[in-house]
Amino acid sequence: MTASEPSEPMIRMQSVEKHFGPLHVLKDVNLEVPRGQVVVVLGPSGSGKSTLCRAVNRLEPIDSGVIEIDGKPLPAEGKELARLRAEVGMVFQSFNLFAHKTILENVTLAPVKVRGTSQAEARKTGLELLERVGIASQSEKYPAQLSGGQQQRAAIARALAMRPKVMLFDEPTSALDPEMVQEVLDVMTGLAGEGMTMLVVTHEMGFARKAANRVVFMADGEIVEDTVPDKFFTAPESARARDFLGKIL
Ligand code: ADP
Ligand code: MG
Repeated sequence: MTASEPSEPMIRMQSVEKHFGPLHVLKDVNLEVPRGQVVVVLGPSGSGKSTLCRAVNRLEPIDSGVIEIDGKPLPAEGKELARLRAEVGMVFQSFNLFAHKTILENVTLAPVKVRGTSQAEARKTGLELLERVGIASQSEKYPAQLSGGQQQRAAIARALAMRPKVMLFDEPTSALDPEMVQEVLDVMTGLAGEGMTMLVVTHEMGFARKAANRVVFMADGEIVEDTVPDKFFTAPESARARDFLGKIL
């Protein structure tokens, strides 16, 4: 089977195990994210959601198991790994923008350095992406001059500038003031609508209900439920999911 086989999931995790010392943080994790779909990961704090996300682009090495992106196993290191990382965009809770670069520079840096895109081309694409996330008018400012919501939208534009095949979001709205959450979720919903494959860790249940094709519920390092949002929110099967929902809804 070739990598571009349409039936291949974009992300496949098989029997993934991960320990931090004595702590067993990923326990026999099996997860597939089909191309063009949005999978939302829910679960209590400390359940392994961030570790799972970070394992997907090998920011966190795993102990055993298989992770494939677009049908290809995750390379361990070197050029292959750099290439893979370029295909997997990641947006974190903290915006991680370069403080001493303008918003546009933040967005053009990696395409020029990693992809060898020309400055002119990177600028053009960068401005289009900033337009798309609604902050083109902020392109010459520095991160600290923007609101949290604008910074997070810039971080999304920066990830998109590498033309990723898949986007990982790890609690992208958790550090934001409440009034800025929706503008970031709107950008994410737009991306989903355009067919981007997305793995999203979030506590935003409205987004999970509306945008997710599937909800994966994690507890204590295990995937406890993997189902459609309707079913998860109305009839969760496990006591742990019912308990979780009872606390947040
Ligand atoms: P979540 O994102 O669901 O809150 P994490 O994946 O961040 O959970 O963490 C899962 C568990 O692993 C937690 O108990 C956390 O304290 C622990 N952990 C996370 N990163 C590390 C690390 N680098 N070293 C040791 N323990 C860690
Ligand atoms: Mg986390």
